[in-house]
Amino acid sequence: MLLVTGGAGFIGGTFVRRWLARHAEPVVILDAMTYAADRAVVADLQGATLVTGDVRDAALVASLLATHRPRAVVHFAAESHVDRSIAGPAAFVETNIVGTFRLLEAVRAHLDTLAPVERGRFRFLSVSTDEVYGDWADRGSDAPEAGAVEGDAYAPSSPYAASKAAADHLVRAWARTYGVPAIVTACSNNYGPRQYPEKLIPVVIRAALAGRPLPIYGDGRQVRDWLHVDDHCDALVHVLEVGRVGATYHIGGGRSLTNVDLVRRICADLDALRPRPDGASYAAQLAFVPDRPGHDRRYALDASRLTRELGWHPVVDFDEGLRATVAWYLARA
Ligand code: NAD
Repeated sequence: MLLVTGGAGFIGGTFVRRWLARHAEPVVILDAMTYAADRAVVADLQGATLVTGDVRDAALVASLLATHRPRAVVHFAAESHVDRSIAGPAAFVETNIVGTFRLLEAVRAHLDTLAPVERGRFRFLSVSTDEVYGDWADRGSDAPEAGAVEGDAYAPSSPYAASKAAADHLVRAWARTYGVPAIVTACSNNYGPRQYPEKLIPVVIRAALAGRPLPIYGDGRQVRDWLHVDDHCDALVHVLEVGRVGATYHIGGGRSLTNVDLVRRICADLDALRPRPDGASYAAQLAFVPDRPGHDRRYALDASRLTRELGWHPVVDFDEGLRATVAWYLARA
């Protein structure tokens, strides 16, 4: 079985659902059920057991490992919202850094109890973000257009990104020093159904329908790469099965957009799916608001290793994926 931390969140929940749709192997979810969790995500799933608890709870994690003897830990649990990390960084240090440390320590102790064969097939898959590389625009004209490659120096800007960078460093140190069979993945911005409403796409859709301004930070020219959450989760399954222990893999969508372009696309989908009563475009509601501190201009990942070495590439067409995502939120608005 798999132990999935943060499996009641946006990406972890998608991972668990997609895993169980294709594998007979059960999943135990360890999730603290913070504001970002969604109990409904896993409520109706055969094969998933939800344990409400904190990744920092060393005794709980040790007992879950000893009782269930998972062949892998897939680590999603995190505080994940950049704005919240600026307003209150402590929770990010606690969950993302201390939590990852405690988890690694529990896994290290557990590995010592395993027979060599079991130990040999155990994996610790740690899910990270392109934000650890910081602002790609800051790297100047020497920075490759395709973006950061695995092994490039970290330069996180926000407390969120710094806490994820710290977690990645811990994972790699535990892999090298203690032989924890870890793999790190770093992914670009995910979109899709069931994202907590504080994130950009659901924020825009809700504001549009309510007739409120559509908030865009600064000049809206910040560039992000977008990947459908289903593609991200399928890549994680692939990495779990055939990825190299000790390696890092970038997972990207190859679809870079400025924030303002993304919002305009969402407006176009809304115009088509639920036109405004007055016939005007939702784009008329665009409103530029003061930028957030430390806002990175551009994230960029070169994700070619995943294709080159493991033969994986994303399959969800961005335009179709975004339209379906907008439709999903509309159906629940
Ligand atoms: P999310 O905020 O939707 O979900 C996080 C989950 O972790 C929630 O269910 C929450 O209850 C749980 N959690 C928080 N603190 C916990 C703790 N101390 N112990 C146990 N569980 C805890 O986040 P998400 O968007 O699904 O992101 C999942 C992972 O993917 C994170 O590690 C994030 O850094 C990474 N990531 C996200 C994106 C993205 O675009 N959303 C991109 C790249 C990487």
